[in-house]
Amino acid sequence: MEKSLPEPIVLFGGSFDPVHYGHLRAVQEAAEQLGVEQVKLLPCHIPPHKESLKASVSQRLHMLQLAIAEQPNLSVDTWELEQPKASYTLNTLKRYRASYGDEISLIFLMGWDSLQSLPSWYHWQELAELSNFAVWRRPGYSELNHQVQAWLDTRLSEVADLKNQSSGHVCFLQTTPLDVSSSAVRNGDAMNTELLPESVYRYIRECNLYQTKAGKMNVN
Ligand code: ATP
Repeated sequence: MEKSLPEPIVLFGGSFDPVHYGHLRAVQEAAEQLGVEQVKLLPCHIPPHKESLKASVSQRLHMLQLAIAEQPNLSVDTWELEQPKASYTLNTLKRYRASYGDEISLIFLMGWDSLQSLPSWYHWQELAELSNFAVWRRPGYSELNHQVQAWLDTRLSEVADLKNQSSGHVCFLQTTPLDVSSSAVRNGDAMNTELLPESVYRYIRECNLYQTKAGKMNVN
């Protein structure tokens, strides 16, 4: 008799400064394609790749909580936020392995731009020893460099394989592109309720969180 495998643990990291529909839509479509119930969002504390964040830890967390209030399959893991130092995905994955053991499938979700930047992640070559990766393409981004392409070539798998293997495999998912980024929200170019959950949009306005360009606000 085949052993039934436990549900994979699916993780999605980001700085979420702020969270937007590009994140939320991609994650929901990814969960559907992977056939998983739950996804954990991992807001990072001090992102190693970014110079600085605008919103505070508690503000970013609050916006995430507002955004997922009506999405019961999403939850937030605040561990990285609670760390006093830079957040490294490697440490987060090690922590999941320590808690859940070596057999369970871990699947880390990311967009193409994150895949491109993988060699700049802390001890990046060790990441696939701990987790699988499910990646969605993002229009407008360039090709992968040699190093990442070589890493990918040896790991590329079907979506279903990621549920049966605890780590080391990468698959591509088909998500609907949405042209928005947190930076575009921060600089006032994407401040509208088609790109942000209304609750997040209102919170940003109430707290005057980001600089907004005159005339760019979409006041409903
Ligand atoms: P910033 O503009 O500050 O760089 P961001 O919008 O790219 O932020 P992050 O929190 O850094 O958001 O992103 C975390 C993850 O979300 C990455 O894997 C990235 O590929 C993905 N992502 C960000 N924006 C989108 C989008 N519009 N569609 C799909 N994935 C996205």
